[in-house]
Amino acid sequence: MDETRGLSPGETLVFTLNAGSSSLKFALFREDPDEDPERLATGVVEAIGPNARLRVTHADGGVAIDERPAGGIPNQAAALARVLGWLESFRPEAAAAAVGHRIVHGGPDLARPVRIDAEILDALARLEPLAPLHQPNNLAGVRAAMAAFPQAVQVACFDTAFHQSHDRLRQTFPLPLKYYEAGVRRYGFHGLSYESVVDRLGRQFPEVAAGRIVVAHLGNGASMAAIRAGRPVATTMGFTALDGLMMGTRSGSLDPGVLLYLLEVEGLSLPELTHMLYEESGLRGVSGLSNDLRVLEASAEPAAALAIEMFVDRAARAVGELAVVLGGLDALVFTAGIGENSARIRASIAERLAFLGLSLDPQANASGGPVISATASLIRALVVSTDEEAMIARHALAVLREVRTGTSAAPGRDSSARPEARRHRSGDFLC
Ligand code: AMP
Repeated sequence: MDETRGLSPGETLVFTLNAGSSSLKFALFREDPDEDPERLATGVVEAIGPNARLRVTHADGGVAIDERPAGGIPNQAAALARVLGWLESFRPEAAAAAVGHRIVHGGPDLARPVRIDAEILDALARLEPLAPLHQPNNLAGVRAAMAAFPQAVQVACFDTAFHQSHDRLRQTFPLPLKYYEAGVRRYGFHGLSYESVVDRLGRQFPEVAAGRIVVAHLGNGASMAAIRAGRPVATTMGFTALDGLMMGTRSGSLDPGVLLYLLEVEGLSLPELTHMLYEESGLRGVSGLSNDLRVLEASAEPAAALAIEMFVDRAARAVGELAVVLGGLDALVFTAGIGENSARIRASIAERLAFLGLSLDPQANASGGPVISATASLIRALVVSTDEEAMIARHALAVLREVRTGTSAAPGRDSSARPEARRHRSGDFLC
């Protein structure tokens, strides 16, 4: 019997997990041999702890569960156990054949999704210092899933992988070069989102995908990627997901001297500084109100207006910078919570880029696209929704197929899964 196949003949289920510091997002897909995986349900355990809330939505939008268990949900393993309870009632006859995990950091070597075995898990744990706020939670989710789905193929999908083909020029900080060798380099993040958008563009707007594009992932986390003919060449995030654009609660790029000053003169401790940069800065820090753009857009407070102006200013400047890297710009693509939903932010960014020949069609922008540029615009502008979970499901199924067909050997003996074999193989994963 093929132990990876699950319990229901003919039905292959894949589970996707995104384990954050206080949340567990998940989705269930069914393999469709001829199409993309079919999403059956999506859910989240929010605020893991005493006030945790579990919500599950079926593919048709119907709410399956919305509950706050008495006593809360103490940790990732308990959250997963809760989710499994739901899965058991939802699909009692089937087990997931593959579990795809969103892993924030693949380090310098992991350039494509990979089956997780003990060796890979160790390698990922060694990367924890590179992403101390995210990687340990991601791996806690992996361990919980390995215990819960012992027969499933576990697959790691990296947020850094998409950017692996960047030139060394764009991976190197202007610091003594020994730090590059020590791993202090620009990695870039939001890779699964960029892959999802590039894939959708390739299907729906192949002429756009073939050109020089900037994808603006504007959500609570925000970054941009410069992509030429589907190949990533630069991004605004660097060593950590703090770099680049102003975000919901993160600062984005700062004069490094500010950090020295805050440590030396203001006397902030390292944990205080870390908390401020990740949780208390960005839209929330400047507005003093909220990290949610909807709250700021509805506010008459001058600080809210300033926060929005700063967000837009930095975003538009980043498009300019990435256009220089690309040697011109054919299209600007908006995605994620703000990019997909805020016509005001899109219009304000586009206004600042009018000198490049970008103009929006106000009606198309108001209705959300997908094409929002005016007919006469020299640069096309589009809104494309991102679907990181579907991307993870596709990767997990691809790795599962490799395992089943023997093109990937058992854990630990898979030569294609060894870090050195995956060096500079970006593009492989753009399935
Ligand atoms: P994400 O991280 O991609 O889920 O994006 C979340 C953010 O998108 C929220 O914090 C809001 O700031 C923003 N957002 C979502 N919907 C809207 C909307 N209709 N208008 C403006 N901003 C929105």
